[in-house]
Amino acid sequence: MTAQLIDGNALSMQLRAQVAADTAQLKAKGLTPGLAVVLVGDNPASQVYVRNKVKACEDAGLHSVLEKYEADMSEADLLARVQALNNDPSIHGILVQLPLPAHIDAQKVIEAINPLKDVDGFHMASAGALMTGMPGFWPCTPYGCMKMLESIGYSLKGKHAVVIGRSNIVGKPMALMLLQQNATVTICHSATPDLKAMTLQADVIVAAVGKRNVLTADMVKPGAVVLDVGMNRNDQGKLCGDVDFEGVKQVASYITPVPGGVGPMTITMLLVNTLESAQRALSEKS
Ligand code: NAP
Repeated sequence: MTAQLIDGNALSMQLRAQVAADTAQLKAKGLTPGLAVVLVGDNPASQVYVRNKVKACEDAGLHSVLEKYEADMSEADLLARVQALNNDPSIHGILVQLPLPAHIDAQKVIEAINPLKDVDGFHMASAGALMTGMPGFWPCTPYGCMKMLESIGYSLKGKHAVVIGRSNIVGKPMALMLLQQNATVTICHSATPDLKAMTLQADVIVAAVGKRNVLTADMVKPGAVVLDVGMNRNDQGKLCGDVDFEGVKQVASYITPVPGGVGPMTITMLLVNTLESAQRALSEKS
């Protein structure tokens, strides 16, 4: 068997076209969805990420603001900026790029964002909403994974999903989203004694670890769906995921590549969340 690719670039293009069309409709009603991206310091990877996010907004017709600050910005000043953005009616989504410099308490900054504008879905209120099935913003990366499963018409009901990784931004919310769709979910992490024994039982595997070759062909049940969230560099310095792509694609039914898989979906879901936030703002006004 050779797995079919779930193409994150193609799916992103479709979804972004829909965001652009919906944004045009909102604009016709006098409201332009707006995203503020805040970057503190000069982390090179973060600079690329924020540039891509701002460009994606512009391409879809959203308003976007990039606020860049020196690495020695005080926590108090950053909290004041977040507060100002909370009060800015032209901004519907606020994203503070992580990681923040060590002297700033990232959790405190996240909690300062108005949950109604928490389009990254990292606020405790957003996490609580996901856990309890209430309306709120879902973190973009696992939300993108769910869209990928939806795109292949995959029904999770009664399936066993194994999530490798338990971070607050990927693994845990991923598990909750899969659970909400009636999958039976197992979460694995660095203290899981026999990862292979778990993954071999899985109909769906999401790898969100940050280590190359965490998932190899011998660990995958024939026909399983494999989503690779990891972003690593191989020996040649090229981007690769957590999954041994060449091996696992011989066993899986569907697989996401890296690059061109989950990565582009993350920014796409940020646009989706920002649009949704603006739509909510409009419906509250009327
Ligand atoms: P993280 O916070 O470092 O979490 C990694 C998780 O992997 C932890 O829960 C850790 O377990 C677990 N783990 C580590 N070694 C393991 C092993 N050998 N077996 C099983 N589990 C193991 O990372 P993250 O933020 O979730 O990100 C994970 C990966 O996804 C990274 O490569 C990151 O760059 C990538 N990522 C990609 C996107 C995207 O847009 N494509 C977005 C976000 C993240 P413990 O909890 O026990 O330490």
